[in-house]
Amino acid sequence: MQSLILAKEQLQSMIEHVNAHAPLEACGLLAGKDSTVEKIFFVQNQAQSAVRYVMNPMEQLAAFEWIDSNSMDLLGIFHSHPAGPDTVSPTDIAEAAYEVVYVIFSHTDKDWHARGFWIKDNDYTEITLQIR
Ligand SMILES: [Zn+2]
Repeated sequence: MQSLILAKEQLQSMIEHVNAHAPLEACGLLAGKDSTVEKIFFVQNQAQSAVRYVMNPMEQLAAFEWIDSNSMDLLGIFHSHPAGPDTVSPTDIAEAAYEVVYVIFSHTDKDWHARGFWIKDNDYTEITLQIR
């Protein structure tokens, strides 16, 4: 996957979500078609941690079922790094279980920003986030 396409409103709603949960990490799932995100699932971080996230398995399962029954694909997983870094952490690499774009939110001063990554074989490459 070369890029992930997000609407400005979708990006804004994710920023509001991660900001509301800071200093804890927040997370969610991105579904859609052909690299274009059409649906965002905000999932509870049951780890309730500032340095890691564990998606609530019931919410995750419900999201996967919705994605299947709406003929969409899981395109991405997003989470926040309220205390940084603005890139993937060793934990993210160790726990990457899906071949999807990992979107990470971090902030400098007051502004949150997002970066996308493809994690594979204990390594990662940056994926362009196209905001429309
Ligand atoms: Zn992380």
